[in-house]
Amino acid sequence: MKKRNTVLVSGIASIIILVSVQLFIIKGIWNQRNEMFALRYSVLSKEGLDFLNRRMRTDGFDTVRLLLRNYSEQANKELHALKDPRDIDAKKKEILNYFTTVVYKEQDLSDFLSKYFERRGFEKKFKFTISIMDLDMINDDTIPVYQSEGFLNRGRPNTGVRSGPADNLKDKILVNWFNLEDNSYRFLFAYYIDFSDKQKVILKETSVFLGMSILSIIVVVIIFIITYKNLMEEKRLSNLKTDFINNMTHELKTPLSTITVAGKTLEMPQIRNDDAKILETAKLIGKQSVHLNQLINMILEISMWERTQFQLDKKTISIEEIVNDVVDSFKSGGGNNATIIQKYNFSGAKVDIDAVYFTTLLNNLLSNAVKYSDKQPVIEIEGFTQDNNVFIKVADNGIGINKIDQKHIFDKFYRASTGNIHKFKGLGLGLYYVKKIAEAHGGDVTVHSKPGKGSIFTVTLPF
Ligand code: ADP
Repeated sequence: MKKRNTVLVSGIASIIILVSVQLFIIKGIWNQRNEMFALRYSVLSKEGLDFLNRRMRTDGFDTVRLLLRNYSEQANKELHALKDPRDIDAKKKEILNYFTTVVYKEQDLSDFLSKYFERRGFEKKFKFTISIMDLDMINDDTIPVYQSEGFLNRGRPNTGVRSGPADNLKDKILVNWFNLEDNSYRFLFAYYIDFSDKQKVILKETSVFLGMSILSIIVVVIIFIITYKNLMEEKRLSNLKTDFINNMTHELKTPLSTITVAGKTLEMPQIRNDDAKILETAKLIGKQSVHLNQLINMILEISMWERTQFQLDKKTISIEEIVNDVVDSFKSGGGNNATIIQKYNFSGAKVDIDAVYFTTLLNNLLSNAVKYSDKQPVIEIEGFTQDNNVFIKVADNGIGINKIDQKHIFDKFYRASTGNIHKFKGLGLGLYYVKKIAEAHGGDVTVHSKPGKGSIFTVTLPF
């Protein structure tokens, strides 16, 4: 139990560590790809701007410049004429609004860049953002209209210090700063681009790593489950073996101690004169020796099966006759306190079987029906033929078998949980034997049972 828990805990811990390491690596790769993506488009857009400047002699804001020049002369005059601070504020807002609208609506840079990206074989669809840093209206003096936080905190970017993007611009790619100015205004802003399917592109690029790490996690989990299951199976087998040794010792000791006591009895002088008592004791010794012999043979035979294949000595026999023989001798032997109902009709079918093994098979089923009973045993033997198969059903009114045990009762050494407390003696080999014998004849055995109600074992043999 302790070992099982340690294995479970250490297995789960290593899987968690593995998953965390993989997540860490993937996050690193993701960030790296993210940066590479930004860098790629940053370089590309700089090249695009360069191309515009060199070839077309424009920065994409020519229309903007024209509109602003026309507007700002008049606006400047109006602003300078105002005295009331509220009016000044309202005018400033109006100017800022105009500048913002114009720079957003009338710029050609986005179209230029989009075409340039497409020509270079890259994604052409992007959104742009213009972040205004500084807007001043200049007459004889300068009236600041707007200054962004970044601009105020860090000074003018074009003096050398480049302001980092504000929070909402963090994931966007900075293309460039633009400083538009003439006699009546100075307008400084940054132009950013942003790709909506950036995540998709990065996901595609990292999918190989992602796939590989998911695969490695799955492989490790599968290996762990298999190892754990094997360990559990080993544990189950070792428990079965321990139980078997205990049961075997108990099973062998019972007839042996009876024989020892009987031997001692025969030594007593008062017994030696009593012929009837001597005969009875001798019979007891004989019976127990036979039982002991059977037990030893059973154990030996099973260990032989492990090494060699089943050797059947098959003969074509009337199934009805052999079932009759086994039932008759069972009635006169151990099963004489049971009520046995024979309801079989094999229509004279003859089957190729090994009579000795078949007898053992049926005997085991019958003696279990008596053994695992808590009341007067009633055994019903049914039999019929169907589709070239012989069906033999042994039904009892015994203690029954629960669903979990039903799955294992044909396993070697397996005894249902009530079995090991020695209320019902046994080695857990009887049904294993039955299954092996049925299978060696090309047939099978199944069980149908309800605890407290009884069990039905059905043997099928082909003919
Ligand atoms: P054993 O009888 O030596 O324990 P078996 O292989 O014959 O071994 O049976 C395996 C287990 O199946 C038994 O321990 C018992 O719990 C259960 N079993 C077998 N036959 C019956 C039956 N007719 N009714 C109830 N339980 C049975």
